[in-house]
Amino acid sequence: MTASPGPAPHRPRARTLLAATALVLGAVAVPAATAGPTQPVDGAAGVGDPYWPLDGNGGYDVTRYRIENRWSFDTRTLRGRTAVDLVATDDLTSFSLDFLLPVSQVAVDGVPARFQRAGRGHELRVTPAEPLAAGTAHTVRVRYAGRPGRQSYAGAKAWLQKPGEVVAMGEPHMAPWWFPSNDHPTDKALFEVAVTVPRGKEVVSNGRLVGRTTGKRSVTWRWRADEPMATYLAFFAAGDFAIERGADDGLPWLNAVSQQLSPASQRRATRQLRRSAPIVRWLEKDLGPYPFSVTGGLVTSISTGFALENQTRPTYPEPYGDMSLLMVHELAHQWFGDAVSVRRWRDIWLNEGFASYMEWRWMEKRWGLDPQEQLLSTWQNLRGATTFWSVPIGDPGPGRVFDWAVYERGAMTLQALRHRIGDEVFLDLLRAWAGERPGPDATVEEFEALATQMSGEDLSGFFDAWLRTPERPARTVANGLV
Ligand SMILES: [Zn+2]
Repeated sequence: MTASPGPAPHRPRARTLLAATALVLGAVAVPAATAGPTQPVDGAAGVGDPYWPLDGNGGYDVTRYRIENRWSFDTRTLRGRTAVDLVATDDLTSFSLDFLLPVSQVAVDGVPARFQRAGRGHELRVTPAEPLAAGTAHTVRVRYAGRPGRQSYAGAKAWLQKPGEVVAMGEPHMAPWWFPSNDHPTDKALFEVAVTVPRGKEVVSNGRLVGRTTGKRSVTWRWRADEPMATYLAFFAAGDFAIERGADDGLPWLNAVSQQLSPASQRRATRQLRRSAPIVRWLEKDLGPYPFSVTGGLVTSISTGFALENQTRPTYPEPYGDMSLLMVHELAHQWFGDAVSVRRWRDIWLNEGFASYMEWRWMEKRWGLDPQEQLLSTWQNLRGATTFWSVPIGDPGPGRVFDWAVYERGAMTLQALRHRIGDEVFLDLLRAWAGERPGPDATVEEFEALATQMSGEDLSGFFDAWLRTPERPARTVANGLV
C-alpha cells in the first residue's frame, strides 16, 4: 500500500480491539488430544493475530473461493453467493467465517447449516448438520445481500464507491465487505470471481479474464487467479473502464482505466500503465522470476487516497504526474507482500520497508542517486523528528502499520544493512528472501536469521537499533551509518 499524505485510511480504535480480544478468548478452540478419538471443537473465531484477534479463523484451511456477486449501482447493494472450498484441520462442530453483509442461507456440502452472528457482526458462525472430520474436504455455500458501504470493522469503513463506479480494495481488511472468508494472509487460496453488472459496464479483478456472458440487461464478467492469494489482495472494480491487453517479453498484461477521468488523465493513466510489464521485468533483475503469470494495473476515478498491490493487478488513484515510483512500489509488493506474505500483521515492515526500498533501487539505477548518500541525508534531515523515530517498525502496533516510519525508516534499514554487509551479500539476500524461502509467509525474525546466516555476521545489535529501538540509531559502523 502507498498512502497519500494525510490521515491513513484505516485506523483501528483501541476500544474495538479490546472488545475483540475479549470475544476471541471465549472462542479459542481446545487443542485436540494426541491419541484416541477426540471431541469435535468449535473452531476459533481468530487465527491469533496479535493486532486483530478476530482476523482469520481456526480449524480449517481454504483451498478455493468461487465468488458470484451482482452489484447494483443504483441501490449500492451487493447480492451474491460464494462457495468456499476448505479442508478441516480439526474435528469441528462449528467454524467461523469473516463476513459483514447480511446472510440468508448457508449450506455445507449441499445440506443446510445453522448460522449466527458473533464478534460484533464480523464473525459468521456456521454449525453444519454433522461435525466435520479433520482432514476432510468440504464446500460451504453462503448467500447474502446488503450494502457494503454501511459496514465497518476494526474502526474502518473500507468500501469505496461513487456514482457509477466501485472498487473493492483495502488493507489490512477488505474481504469481509464482499465475500465470506478466512481473512488472514496465512491462509492463501485460489480465486474465481464473477461479478454481474448492468450491460455496458465493465468489471475487472485479479488474474485472467476467463469469460463474459451478456444477457438482455446485464453482463457477467468472470476472472480467475491461478496462483494462491491472500484474501486482502483479492479485488474487483466495476464501472466504465477502458481495458487494454497485451504481452511484453512473454508476460501477458491487462490494464484498465476509468472513463470517468478527464480525457487528459485517461491518456496519462493509459500511457503509464503500459510500463507495468517493463517495470516487472526490471524488478526481476534484482528479485528473480516474477511470481505470477500475468500483470497489469487499474486506475480508478474514486479518490482512494492510496494505491494497493492487489495481486497481479495493483490499483492506483488518478495520476497527476509521473507515477513510476508508485508503480515500482506496488509491483515490488508482488514479491514482498503478495508472494512472501506477513505471518502476523506486526511483520508489516517485510512488505512496506522492502517495497519502499525498491523505489530507492529505481532512483539508484535509473536516476543515478547514491542510496548511501540518500540514507545519510535522510538520517540527518530527520534528526529532530522524535515522533518518526519513536515507531519501532519491527512491531509498530495496530494503529501504525501504515505509519510513514514503516516505509521510510523501513527502507533506510535495508540500505544501512546493505552498507553493513556489502552489496554482493545484500543483493543475494534480497533475491533469496524474495524467491527461495520455504513457506508462503514469513516473520521479521526469519529475515533477521537469513541475513545473519548469509552475512556470517552478528547483526542482533543492528536489527535492535533499526527495528526495535524507539529512537534514532546512532551514527556507527555497526548501524551501517559510517
Ligand atoms: Zn506499500
